[in-house]
Amino acid sequence: MIQITMPLNFLGTVYREIRQALVDMRAMFGLLDANPEIRDAPGAAPLVVSRGAVAFDDVRFGYDGDRPILKGVSFSVQGGRTLAVVGPSGAGKSTISRLMFRFYDATSGAIRVDGQDIRAVTQASLRSVVGVVPQDTVLFNDTIGYNIAYGREGATRAEVEAAARSAAIHGFIERLPQGYETQVGERGLKLSGGEKQRVAIARTILKNPPILILDEATSALDSQTEQEIQDQLRQLGRDRTVIMIAHRLSTVTDADEIIVLDAGEVVERGTHAALVARGGRYAAMWRLQQESEPA
Ligand code: ADP
Ligand code: MG
Repeated sequence: MIQITMPLNFLGTVYREIRQALVDMRAMFGLLDANPEIRDAPGAAPLVVSRGAVAFDDVRFGYDGDRPILKGVSFSVQGGRTLAVVGPSGAGKSTISRLMFRFYDATSGAIRVDGQDIRAVTQASLRSVVGVVPQDTVLFNDTIGYNIAYGREGATRAEVEAAARSAAIHGFIERLPQGYETQVGERGLKLSGGEKQRVAIARTILKNPPILILDEATSALDSQTEQEIQDQLRQLGRDRTVIMIAHRLSTVTDADEIIVLDAGEVVERGTHAALVARGGRYAAMWRLQQESEPA
């Protein structure tokens, strides 16, 4: 009896709380100060995704008036392709992912998905097709199972576990005395940065979105786990649009295009091979990482 009712309870809880939790999205991204002014435009239509092409067209943005963070960023990713964004910390890389999810609106310029300005579509429809693994994941004060199931309303326990397996976190969860029912977050079990990252990856694998944004998604993992999960993410990204913000350049060598962002500007762009051959900023970063991380 217990074995039958447990998963049902689990799903009931998830179903009830999932709507309320949409409100907590900003908290999940650690963006308590995100602009609450962002609203659906009157008569906003749902986003219609065909191929999942993403375009930034001369996007300018600053968190406050007098300090520009993105200074006219343009790029486009065809549906199903992978764009990598690299560059020093503070360059504005995470800002790109926040704008893409519409936590903020660009000051000028436009962001389009399959030709539709994201300001003209409903936020709910935009957020349902974009999956973000943020750089710093803040978990909900709820069970670890809930934190993963949040990725997709109505997910079954089996689907939650499969996603956890792909994110190399299932074994860890199973060893907890309360398993998937373990409370996490501020009032529960404190997870390490790497464990939180894997929960966020599991959630996103479960969500299975046509557009995927990975913001240094594996930066807190040891190199073996990182390798494992990178393989899973590569599989996940195979037939969808991926914007991959990367710290370790070895994870982006097969991207269709790489842009190098520095102080809010795209200073170089091209494939890995072309950028290495060019002998500029990217080549210098590549050389430096090769020296510090010998194969
Ligand atoms: P990156 O991801 O490349 O390290 P970010 O996009 O996170 O860079 O940040 C770019 C710049 O914007 C940094 O100078 C950072 O301090 C600033 N910044 C980020 N978030 C906020 C915020 N919520 N309010 C004000 N400034 C911010
Ligand atoms: Mg960042």
